[in-house]
Amino acid sequence: MTLLSRRDKKIIWHPFTQEKTAAEVIAITNAKGSYIYDESGKAYLDLISSWWVNLHGHAHPDIAEAIYEQALKLEHVIFAGFTHSPAVDLCEDLQEILPYELNRFFFSDNGSTSVEVALKMAYQYWSNQGLKEKNLFLSFDGGYHGDTFGAMSVGSRSGFHNSFSDLFFKVLTIPYPQTWDDDSEIDLKEENALSLLRNHLREHGSKIAAFILEPLVQGASGMKMCRPEFLVKLIAEVREHKILVIFDEVMTGFSRTGSYFALSQIGIIPDFLCLSKGITGGFLPLALTVTTNIIYETFLSNDWNMAFAHGHSYTANPLACAAAIASLKLLKQSDTQNALISIHESHQKGISILQSNCSNIEHTRILGTISAFDIKSDYNLSAKLKKRFLEEGLLIRPLGNTIYLLPPYSITSEELEITYQKITNILKQLSK
Ligand SMILES: *Cc1c(COP(=O)(O)O)cnc(C)c1O
Repeated sequence: MTLLSRRDKKIIWHPFTQEKTAAEVIAITNAKGSYIYDESGKAYLDLISSWWVNLHGHAHPDIAEAIYEQALKLEHVIFAGFTHSPAVDLCEDLQEILPYELNRFFFSDNGSTSVEVALKMAYQYWSNQGLKEKNLFLSFDGGYHGDTFGAMSVGSRSGFHNSFSDLFFKVLTIPYPQTWDDDSEIDLKEENALSLLRNHLREHGSKIAAFILEPLVQGASGMKMCRPEFLVKLIAEVREHKILVIFDEVMTGFSRTGSYFALSQIGIIPDFLCLSKGITGGFLPLALTVTTNIIYETFLSNDWNMAFAHGHSYTANPLACAAAIASLKLLKQSDTQNALISIHESHQKGISILQSNCSNIEHTRILGTISAFDIKSDYNLSAKLKKRFLEEGLLIRPLGNTIYLLPPYSITSEELEITYQKITNILKQLSK
């Protein structure tokens, strides 16, 4: 144990960790590009973008400088009654790559709060119009939306928060028809989900305020992918019952799925769009809940109670906004756009190498810059694999027996090729 990890063990309580059985923490001293470095100087290739936040590599000088310059001018100001150009510039920049209808931006600090804001706005949208009975939410089994109580409630079937389930508000769920390469049963799975949806709509349709989903990919429950045409059908039926639609693109946003946002691959404009994680390129916490003017206008009134009474101390923090502006500029560059394509191609090559060398994998799937597959096993191998990957200098965190890669856009084809070779070797050893 190093000195720092020993000091950590005495004083720190880590997130999402069973502290009694957890492996020793690794002390990271610095990071650059696609690598993070520990105290001994060992490099780890960051294949999970430091859990889905990093876009352009670590310590990118453009973003670092934007934060520094902004810090010398204005580090923060209360956002009720005040504004600043980093906030307005960022929303104008985002509007350029969003559907025209999504043109009202509400700031908060993280993915969970962006979801919380969408849920509260959706509920109040109806209650401001005298429809208080619209107090149910609809979501997918396995959906993950964050760790605050509202976000946990709509993610109640994700299995992450079982200790708190007695305190959740009521949510109706439908099965998620996960699919993969050469899936012969997908039509059946989708029909089943649609028929259960129809049951809910028949019984409770008029009481449902909103449907929340992670479009195209459920992240935390194991990079589970579904077909866009299924979501089109589903959402059309949902909308017939005057139910609002919330796209939680906290993970899928900012080109993870190949397009700036997953919504454009589905061709649907939701009533709310939740953004966070990649928004600042992985530098600072920030989130946005984007909605339409139709929603916004139902909150306009001479009665204060009709207003949206929600805010955070660091709402629209100028440093975070400056980082987000710089990150978005990098994202729009042709180099980055080309990198998205080459990452996708590297995944295709890598997955086919895995398939021809390892008999113990199944359910391969790729979308944009995300690849995933499952290991056939009766045991949960995630801890063992995580350790083996780290030994090989790969930062990969399996979700159960699902292995996925979600790299920063700075990663090269060679680095991905080596990664797939190393994974192949590790999996071959495993089956011996
Ligand atoms: C990570 C995540 C969240 C929660 O975001 P935090 O910033 O961790 O609170 C919500 N929704 C999705 C889809 C996520 O992946």
